[in-house]
Amino acid sequence: MGAGPAGLTAGIYVGREGLKTKILEKGVIGGNANNAPLVANFPGFQSITGIEFLKKTAEQAKMYTNIVEYEEITKIHKTDGKLLLTTNKGEYSAKALIICSGTTYRKLGIKDEGKFIGRGISYCSICDGMFFKGKEVLVVGGGNSAAEHALHLKDLGCNVKIVHRRNTLRAQKYLQDKIHAKGIPIIWNSIVTELKGNNLLKSVVIRNTKTEIDKEVEVAGIYIAVGETPNSELAASMGVDLDELGYITTDKNQRTDIPQVYVAGDVTGGVQQIVVACGEGAVAAVNAYQNLP
Ligand code: NAP
Repeated sequence: MGAGPAGLTAGIYVGREGLKTKILEKGVIGGNANNAPLVANFPGFQSITGIEFLKKTAEQAKMYTNIVEYEEITKIHKTDGKLLLTTNKGEYSAKALIICSGTTYRKLGIKDEGKFIGRGISYCSICDGMFFKGKEVLVVGGGNSAAEHALHLKDLGCNVKIVHRRNTLRAQKYLQDKIHAKGIPIIWNSIVTELKGNNLLKSVVIRNTKTEIDKEVEVAGIYIAVGETPNSELAASMGVDLDELGYITTDKNQRTDIPQVYVAGDVTGGVQQIVVACGEGAVAAVNAYQNLP
């Protein structure tokens, strides 16, 4: 379930064991990793775009398994030792399931955010950053995603600034160093409280949380990178155990608390890196194979 790095790797491993497998993906191959401007920490690749990495991984996975895009699992039911999966296209019976459902970008949760999506608000600089070349753009957030968006937008020639609610970034040091080296300004202790415009976003109100002073600034776009929420509702609906943040709990063999149901990738929380997702996918696949009923 899911064709991001974890699901694709699991597909490679399970398929190579000669099992009849299928990767069901509710959207397109790749998941959030499609939005990684540059992957520079996956062993074997000094630097590769997320899209190129996924293209290569998917090509490899297709040698061993089927990948079906736009097929969403809507219900999972366990009966007589088998898993019955209902999707928007049909039904399957499986001996094991590996959940690699990833995460979804969190929204800011302010008025008109939905209205301006694609009209100034974005969550993916890889997808549409080029439209903002030479224009004023803000990135909201202080984590790795915000840092990567800001660096990518700067490279595209945007006039980019980061708005962060605290006075230190949580992004990894190498990203922070690049931000400073490229002279990307950071508006500290600040949050975006209002979005203004008619059809297109024209300006935003930024509030300094220390002084409580509001300032309206004209922008062509803002990129929101305020974290993620795990796609674990379906797993929860079949009784899989979640932690307090909604991530699926697992043991070191990537087993959930339900026999024959495994989990891998960002939906497990922890260190959310492509290399970790791939590793977890491999562990889940090997255990699923070795413990087939
Ligand atoms: P994240 O690490 O959870 O960071 C979210 C950022 O948004 C934090 O700085 C947080 O502020 C801020 N924030 C949260 N809610 C907010 C709100 N309502 N208003 C304003 N700011 C808000 O999320 P992420 O950057 O999307 O990364 C998600 C995971 O993927 C992480 O594990 C990350 O390491 C991983 N990732 C890795 C890479 C890489 O390795 N190159 C790239 C992208 C993502 P505070 O700091 O105050 O909490």
